[in-house]
Amino acid sequence: MNTFRTKLPNHFDLPRRIGRLRELAYNLWWAWNPTVQRLFTRIDFALWESVNHNPLRFLRAISRAELNAAAQNPLYLDLYDRVFADFDAYLKASDTWCTRTYKGRCKNQIAYFSMEFGLHEILPIYSGGLGVLAGDHLKEASDLGLPLVGVGFMYSEGYFSQRISEDGWQDAINNPLNFEELPVLKVLDENGQPLTVKVDFSDRQVNLHVWELRVGRVPLYLLDTNIEANAPADRRLTTRLYWSDLDLRILQEIVLGIGGVRVLRALGFEPKVWHMNEGHAAFLTLERARERVAEGMTFEQAIAQTRKNNVFTTHTPVPAGNDEFPLWLVDKYLSMLWPDLGLTADQFIDLARNRQSWGETFSMPILALRLSDGRNAVSELHGHVSRAMWRFLWPEVKDEDEVPITYITNGVHTASWMARRLRALYDHYLGEDWLEHLDDPETWEKIDLIPDQELWAVHNHLKRKLAFYIMDRARKRWRQGGFHPVQVIASGVMLDPYALTIGFARRFATYKRANLVLSDLDRLLEIINKPNRPVQIIFAGKAHPADEPGKMLIQEVYRAVKKAENGGRLVFLEDYDMNLARYLVQGVDVWLNTPRRPNEASGTSGMKAALNGVLNFSVLDGWWREAYNGENGWAIGKDAGPEEDPDDDEEAEALYHTLETEIVPLYYDERGVDDMPRKWVARMKQSMRTITPLFSTRRMLKEYVERLYLPALK
Ligand SMILES: *Cc1c(COP(=O)(O)O)cnc(C)c1O
Repeated sequence: MNTFRTKLPNHFDLPRRIGRLRELAYNLWWAWNPTVQRLFTRIDFALWESVNHNPLRFLRAISRAELNAAAQNPLYLDLYDRVFADFDAYLKASDTWCTRTYKGRCKNQIAYFSMEFGLHEILPIYSGGLGVLAGDHLKEASDLGLPLVGVGFMYSEGYFSQRISEDGWQDAINNPLNFEELPVLKVLDENGQPLTVKVDFSDRQVNLHVWELRVGRVPLYLLDTNIEANAPADRRLTTRLYWSDLDLRILQEIVLGIGGVRVLRALGFEPKVWHMNEGHAAFLTLERARERVAEGMTFEQAIAQTRKNNVFTTHTPVPAGNDEFPLWLVDKYLSMLWPDLGLTADQFIDLARNRQSWGETFSMPILALRLSDGRNAVSELHGHVSRAMWRFLWPEVKDEDEVPITYITNGVHTASWMARRLRALYDHYLGEDWLEHLDDPETWEKIDLIPDQELWAVHNHLKRKLAFYIMDRARKRWRQGGFHPVQVIASGVMLDPYALTIGFARRFATYKRANLVLSDLDRLLEIINKPNRPVQIIFAGKAHPADEPGKMLIQEVYRAVKKAENGGRLVFLEDYDMNLARYLVQGVDVWLNTPRRPNEASGTSGMKAALNGVLNFSVLDGWWREAYNGENGWAIGKDAGPEEDPDDDEEAEALYHTLETEIVPLYYDERGVDDMPRKWVARMKQSMRTITPLFSTRRMLKEYVERLYLPALK
């Protein structure tokens, strides 16, 4: 059966010889293949940049004359033919890790549900790490040949753009997305009308349309309620990510969980594994049970059958971060479901009742944990934390270690995050097919074959590229107006492409403590303003619009950045997204991370940095606690169990001490006549060798298959 459910439109006027460019425009495969992107950049590099790396906008804007020239250029056609030979072979998927390892079993479909997907900056349907992980999961599933299908939302406004006022206050700008300019296609029914799927709320029905996004071999279905058939209130459900209004939020989650199952049925998919990325999609367990009850089973029988195929990944290490609803809301919107399941109101609430000191709630993670046999946390430490947090759900289990929640440490999709120049270096020294053997530590032994000078030259190139990109952005922003001269400096025009550069970019949630490095500003300025050994720190990140403490943290950081005394060495970049993330993780020297342990369930941006030769300097929380070996980066503070409360002052002191006595000297001292810090480069190689193979989605997804998906198929 054909994987995709839409037909490609034929609305570009392209020369016949290069007419297949439209197929690429509608498949994100180009996003992780730099050679493929050259099919666009070779025609017009400046245009590719100005359309924000969007092939659809590119093909609309490019002149016919330029296309004709490309269609007659033998060099271009040679590249074109090679790319399409690869594309066709890739889509055919006859020889993949999945078919080689599992043969016929490779046909069993896996559904993957997530509230957000971070696939590329042109699709702002993600807010942070959870979404980027989901996007990387899909790309890796495609590369491995897993028959996976994604389900999420096509937000009509997407996540907001960020502006910072002169006083450091975050302004959220909501931009309606133009779906015509995005590589999504509306799924039609057999009459050529938009496929419509209905979901019931107790008092009404809501209609969904569905958009298809092709991620290599994997289809992602994005639900959309913003259609005429719905009441205005319901049209808003898929406007934005994470409404703080609980009414909207529970309806969103009903649409995702219940609507998502119905959409897959309507499209003819028959998943054998149902994977929930976080609790937001947990209502899918109930819809699957309802299907069985409708066929005549009791609720107990239905649950016993369906839970075998459910897989739930938790990402939340603190009880307060969990998604839950007051009982009256559950009553208001889900009461129609109880009779369908053969349950009373009380029995229904009991499925996910969470007793708090201040009252009772209906907890989405509890629902998912109770109704799934596959359950995992996302790092070793997070596994401990999750087992402790949820052990009350298994009162019969004596030993906390026996609580049935395992862990699979997160990874990142290497090809999406690795700089093109570095990839070329690897092609040369690790062998053309290194990407095929990326998770094999042996591949990485060859890293010593790379001459230090070459690696250092690539690194410095990427650093200059970052600095020029930032200066260019600052200039453009200045030209637009509404920007104070102080903000121009704060946004990085004085960056020195040769100074030791530290990056700190992530969501501004308070537990991530962006201000830790600023806690003794005089001390910090003393360290970073030394003559001949300058250090600069680049901050970036958004706070959720309803997160007042998060926004205040941005303001605190921005006020420090704006101070004249720091001489432009502290920088805050507006509007962190996947594009800026790529520049930063490829172009800084050190990646700083200072979460309050054990709140960082895993963290992934440090993995993106490591695979580009950037050294991590981080609290021993989440993934870094597993990756750090004493020689591949630096730790802040000491390793400790989840019980021990880290002390901010102590950790800040440890941070300054290591920065001053280890990091700065390693970078500036002992440079030879070639001005290359040998020991620094050695540490880069240590980091790349030990981290890249393990903290990849390649390793991660194979673990999901072997430890959670295959058992679910039995
Ligand atoms: C990778 C990534 C994240 C996650 O970063 P963490 O360090 O895990 O918080 C968030 N936002 C963007 C845009 C990313 O690319």
